[in-house]
Amino acid sequence: MTPTGQAEPFEILIVGGGPAGLAAGAEAARQGVPHIVLERGELAQVIVWYQKQKLVMSEPADLPLHQDHPLKFQEGPREAVLQAWTDGTKAAGTNVRTGPANEVLAIEGSKGAFTIQLRAGRRLTARHVVLALGQSNLNRFDCPGADLPHVTYQLSDPGEHEDQKIVVVGVGDAGIENALALCEKNEVSIVNSGTEFPRAQSRNQDLLYRAIAAKQVVHYTNAQVKRFEERAIIVGTNEGEVRIEADLVICRIGARPPTEFLKRLGIAPASKDPNAVPPVSETYESVVPGIYLVGAVIGYPLIKNCLNQGYEVVRYILRQPVEPADEPKLRSMFANARLPGSVTGNLESIKRTIPLFASITNVQLRDFIGKARLLRTEPGEVIIKRNTRADALYAILEGRVTVAIPDSDAAADTVYGDAEAGAPSTFDLESGQFFGEMSLLSDRLHGGTVTAKATSVVVWAPRQAVITLMKKDATVRNILDEAFVFRRLRNLMGQTVPNAEVQALAKTAVLETFEAGATVFSEGDHRLAGRPHHDGGRLGGHRAAMQPIGQQAHLAEELPRLQVEGARGTRFRVAIHGVRGGIGVWDGDRHAAFQDRVQGVGSCVPLDDHFTGLGA
Ligand SMILES: Cc1cc2nc3c(=O)[nH]c(=O)nc-3n(C[C@H](O)[C@H](O)[C@H](O)COP(=O)(O)OP(=O)(O)OC[C@H]3O[C@@H](n4cnc5c(N)ncnc54)[C@H](O)[C@@H]3O)c2cc1C
Repeated sequence: MTPTGQAEPFEILIVGGGPAGLAAGAEAARQGVPHIVLERGELAQVIVWYQKQKLVMSEPADLPLHQDHPLKFQEGPREAVLQAWTDGTKAAGTNVRTGPANEVLAIEGSKGAFTIQLRAGRRLTARHVVLALGQSNLNRFDCPGADLPHVTYQLSDPGEHEDQKIVVVGVGDAGIENALALCEKNEVSIVNSGTEFPRAQSRNQDLLYRAIAAKQVVHYTNAQVKRFEERAIIVGTNEGEVRIEADLVICRIGARPPTEFLKRLGIAPASKDPNAVPPVSETYESVVPGIYLVGAVIGYPLIKNCLNQGYEVVRYILRQPVEPADEPKLRSMFANARLPGSVTGNLESIKRTIPLFASITNVQLRDFIGKARLLRTEPGEVIIKRNTRADALYAILEGRVTVAIPDSDAAADTVYGDAEAGAPSTFDLESGQFFGEMSLLSDRLHGGTVTAKATSVVVWAPRQAVITLMKKDATVRNILDEAFVFRRLRNLMGQTVPNAEVQALAKTAVLETFEAGATVFSEGDHRLAGRPHHDGGRLGGHRAAMQPIGQQAHLAEELPRLQVEGARGTRFRVAIHGVRGGIGVWDGDRHAAFQDRVQGVGSCVPLDDHFTGLGA
């Protein structure tokens, strides 16, 4: 027997006592398996850190908890949830050790014989290790003034604050909940680097919109934190720098996975992106046999997913059959779309058919499809109507669709409007391809009408799910970016340029992000000099500002005179390509903010010299 009271080696050693780790511990305890849960803080530390009386939401509403789950969870105040888990942990007989001495510093060995080094110096042995580490590396600012005492990263008790000027930075759930809890008794502002709240639960989004409309919360949009000063925060906005007075600044700018810790174990994230999570198999096993990852550490932001995964991983380790909690939901989605075969078979077919999803893990794909819908459409059925608001990405699993961008309503066209634009553009997309991404990413209205050409099954994925996936998977982001650039150029250039040429051009694109006021290029920039220009270049966007370029014979003479600034859009991405005889400009994050200054120049005028473009 060991100091922990159980026989070593443990069959399952669990690192992290959040919902995922506690669920794994409780299930192991119920099954009488030698186990231990090691938590360096308190039981469910992250929930302990929530603000007092916070309503803990039980989303997604249509995802059940496993029926015989040993821990209970229902929506309610933080205190009630913590109590339920404390009671459940005790009732199950989970072997938990909490406090700094139980921090796991290193894991050595291999499946069947791991040695686990604790901060207190003790070493434990285990056959399998479950890492339920969460995402506890809080992102912090390192700009000037970031160490001033009024700059904080947590809010424990909103009731402690009254008649204060409080600025919350960040518009995820944590930031929104802090702002809402404080706004009744304080002057509260919220700083948003964009204009919307795509990462927050829709319920929180609605509440914040209401609080802003009721002037309970001041909303700073397109705002970047520049520095902190005594009792103030300075943000860059489209109107220039703004000084917001603040007795307290609460920064809720997310957290990162414990990448360094995992790398030391040989578990690398899926990409170099700081938000990327490590890949796992369908049974949550990492690339290191015998080490399993569950919960927020593999990108699951919600408690219910974490609780289910903790329960499932123990069953997988014990080789017991377990149907994932989302299986019935996915089964009925596929059945409704009249797709025969098992859930696993259909998920595999999605990965095989749609390259966009080929790189994501099966666990991520399950989650993504669970948030999506499968649309079955018959020939002639309109899937997207031109000039409607975008809220989703569409990927074709089966069938074929036609995209039509007519010029008949060019005058009213909010995207490509130009009475001289030329012939309407129509093209087909087939299984494996996707559409809707241009509007989704740029927040513009749909530029074309999409109609089913054959009986088709289309994956409809809501904006929030796509944005989350793009954050976690660099391949998904690159594929969407590439498609965006290609289609943007395609539209700018008209139909006379062959696809292959546009494709080649798109591949040379470099995406850069500029802040409001940043100079995109300046007079005399040597990269612009000496390029001959053709006078047939067509201008989009702001004609008054841009027309001289198209009318002049030489870029060298005219282009450098323009100082293009991100005057209204705080952050926009721009790709300037080696378009022959002109410049293709693609602006990604916030088109609307940018388009009245530069939309695109040079609808493909073949010349033998190439403008190499900024950043190229
Ligand atoms: C402010 C806020 C509000 C939220 N609100 C909701 C909500 O309403 N509903 C919802 O479903 N979700 C909500 N979430 C998300 C939810 O908290 C997470 O999904 C959940 O906590 C993740 O569970 P987990 O077990 O994977 O990780 P965590 O809860 O992060 O637990 C990981 C644990 O591992 C411990 N640990 C890490 N490394 C080590 C180590 N080396 N040794 C020992 N211990 C270690 C940490 O101390 C931590 O306690 C919210 C999150 C935040 C930040």
